Amino acid sequence: MSIQEKTALVVGAGIAGASICLALKKRNIKTILIDSDMGPALHASGNPIGVVYPFLTKHKTAESEFSLNAFLYFLSVWEKFQLQDLVPHANGIYFLMDTGSSYDRYSHAISSHQIEDQVAKEEMEPISGAKALFFPNGKSVSPVKLTEEIVSLTNAETKYNCQLLTWEESEKDSKILCKTSQGEIQCDYLFLSQGYQFSDDPKSNWLPLKKVRGQILKIPEQSPTNSFGILYGDYLTAPIQGHQVLGATFDEFKLEPEPRPEESESMWKDLCERLPKLFSEWEPLNPRLLQTRVSYRTQSQDRHPIVGKLPNLSKMDLSVKYQNSLRKDGKKIKIPYFERVGILNGLGSRGLTHSLYAAEILVSSVLEEESPVSEKILKSLKPDRFLLRMWKRDQLT
Ligand SMILES: Cc1cc2nc3c(=O)[nH]c(=O)nc-3n(C[C@H](O)[C@H](O)[C@H](O)COP(=O)(O)OP(=O)(O)OC[C@H]3O[C@@H](n4cnc5c(N)ncnc54)[C@H](O)[C@@H]3O)c2cc1C
Repeated sequence: MSIQEKTALVVGAGIAGASICLALKKRNIKTILIDSDMGPALHASGNPIGVVYPFLTKHKTAESEFSLNAFLYFLSVWEKFQLQDLVPHANGIYFLMDTGSSYDRYSHAISSHQIEDQVAKEEMEPISGAKALFFPNGKSVSPVKLTEEIVSLTNAETKYNCQLLTWEESEKDSKILCKTSQGEIQCDYLFLSQGYQFSDDPKSNWLPLKKVRGQILKIPEQSPTNSFGILYGDYLTAPIQGHQVLGATFDEFKLEPEPRPEESESMWKDLCERLPKLFSEWEPLNPRLLQTRVSYRTQSQDRHPIVGKLPNLSKMDLSVKYQNSLRKDGKKIKIPYFERVGILNGLGSRGLTHSLYAAEILVSSVLEEESPVSEKILKSLKPDRFLLRMWKRDQLT
């Protein structure tokens, strides 16, 4: 059976699932995309506007290298499919370096990552007058439209109001049997991208992922206002279709879905302090009365995405102990996998920037193709890193 005759099931129609569908489409694999909700991008990927830019560190790390590559990959997909004509957006992101430590970190990042001027350069942000990194092709973008457009580029068969309930590898053939709320689906490959609802799946809920609450404010477009997104810890997006977004709060402990007026007020106060010139030109607004949206990121223990084949914990030989494996003739641990099941999760606060590239890495790994990234980056993304950590600490029994 050629690869093109195989079927993949993708679970979750957020930006992660959409990105996986695009990577599968590139390989002409028949794809079914399901979501338990009534449409795509209704959860973490459902904010009115988000920002796209890379995470950088002073010196090159696997994480910063991945993020920069992911940003460049995002831009290449954006251009290839002419998403500028389809997705509401504004180009340009200023990342303020207005403290000594942020200046030290980000100004060095440019040289240590050999970033070219057309990708990012040091430039004064005109409203605050602060030193900043300017990403001319960074974006304020509609995540909902971005997700929808990516899904429509893929020709995936979509099934909404369709929840994955359980899945098993078939013993008699190489199929995966998936029970959903709309009946059974048999597939050759399964890709899991359920966002914060990952914990409903007993085969992946051992992963150290956390649900993290975030709140944003939707502000009617002000005049005059910033035409580029500005990041200063929080972010104020450029206006798109008559609105700007001020985001985002972060709470990993209390997760209630109701908006918190005091959080809106505090974000607003911060904005006024960081960008006083901008604020002084706006009509007075009461932040407590602005539209608010609460949603949930999924964050891994090391804040790096989880991308790769899913380890099969139930088949791991736990009689092999870490201390013994270090001995000269000691038995080495081997990680068993669900060979045709991949996971893309833990996208944290940068899912828009990272998901297209992460999906490409994931699909190439599950299909056993040559990896588009170095071994170092691959290792930093695989779910295995947590399993090995838990095994070393004897936390698996
Ligand atoms: C407040 C806030 C602000 C953010 N701002 C930015 C930003 O500016 N820039 C940026 O890059 N990132 C930002 N992020 C992060 C980004 O939004 C996320 O990383 C990204 O949306 C995660 O996408 P996802 O597809 O993994 O999850 P989701 O969008 O949550 O998608 C998961 C989908 O899986 C479905 N699902 C779950 N379980 C099942 C099941 N059993 N069966 C079928 N379907 C199922 C859900 O219905 C959901 O649609 C922000 C996040 C938050 C919370």
